[in-house]
Amino acid sequence: MNKTRGIYEELKPYRNFDYDGFFSGLADKDIQTILAKDQLTALDYLALLSPAAEKYLEPMAQKAKAITLKYFGKTILLFTPIYLSDYCTNKCKYCGFSALNTQPRKMLTLEQVEQEAQVIASTGLKHILYLTGDAPTISSVQYMKNCTKILTKYFSSVGTEVYSLTLEEYKELYEAGVDSMTMFQETYNEALYDDIHVAGPKKDYHFRLDAPERACQAGMWCVNIGALMGLDEWRREAFFTGLHAAYLQDHYPEVDINISVPRMRPHTGDFQPLVDMTDMNTVQYILAYRLFMQRSGITMSTRETVDFRNHMMGIGVTKMSAGSCTAVGGHIHKNANSGQFDISDERDVEEMKKAIRQQGFQPVMKNWEPLVGES
Ligand code: SF4
Repeated sequence: MNKTRGIYEELKPYRNFDYDGFFSGLADKDIQTILAKDQLTALDYLALLSPAAEKYLEPMAQKAKAITLKYFGKTILLFTPIYLSDYCTNKCKYCGFSALNTQPRKMLTLEQVEQEAQVIASTGLKHILYLTGDAPTISSVQYMKNCTKILTKYFSSVGTEVYSLTLEEYKELYEAGVDSMTMFQETYNEALYDDIHVAGPKKDYHFRLDAPERACQAGMWCVNIGALMGLDEWRREAFFTGLHAAYLQDHYPEVDINISVPRMRPHTGDFQPLVDMTDMNTVQYILAYRLFMQRSGITMSTRETVDFRNHMMGIGVTKMSAGSCTAVGGHIHKNANSGQFDISDERDVEEMKKAIRQQGFQPVMKNWEPLVGES
């Protein structure tokens, strides 16, 4: 079966869907009926994202809590990002690393990667996610493989969040020790995607949309997707993210499919969110998604505030970043270059562990031990 256009075709019926008509046709009894179901359809999920469902957040939260407890226990997995390089050839309007910005750039040497790894590992974290800008001749796949080999000495799980790669390249990273892949589509709105990606290889909507599926095919154990909230109408973006996750989970049941719900944060440059997404909207998205994709992990990053992250433990969120720094080399040099975006929750790993315990949850540092390369 040719799946390279699979998700694009899957989303097609919903591109020109009458969202306003669907939402305005929903009555209280429709939401109540959906809340009584064990399994939701795609349109049930859309209904829970609707304005009509806003007054049902409390029963949605109760159900989401029970489902999260059933499949994840009272745990929150902690991880941290490490920025390897901020060289980037793309001109994405919303990002501090954009080639439109003229700040000095930096890429970690392998010695510096090792130093950063040692500092991060000393906090007890076992899961790490490395990021680079999109500059394949600088932060090449070979460079990533070299970095992966260093990181696997210190961490049980190494994830990649880099530019879209080919299937062969994902396989190479997997064989080097990368077990998870994160790829944000940014926006599922194709016309808007074209507008905000002014120039560079990321302009290819299809190549990016298909990247998570290539990572699944390459053998990654965990694939994390999401839309950058604040670019297009949040209910549609949430719906498309959920459809994408469901598609991947259906086709690759052996892969742990996760989503993230990143909201736009300030960064170098002057781009402002195109639409507002409130805390309540974010809660509704997370609850609706939990009811739709019951076993799927949900990640909440340090973009969100301390209070909000504390409140979201247990009602859907299962993974959180901690001790984050979005600047290259920021773990060993506190005065490193400006980061990709500003963070809100600046708690270090110990503070996060304490906060998680105070909420009645257990912080998990190590979710699995990869067997890649073992005989
Ligand atoms: S979002 Fe990614 S590809 Fe776009 S400018 Fe930022 S780092 Fe580069």
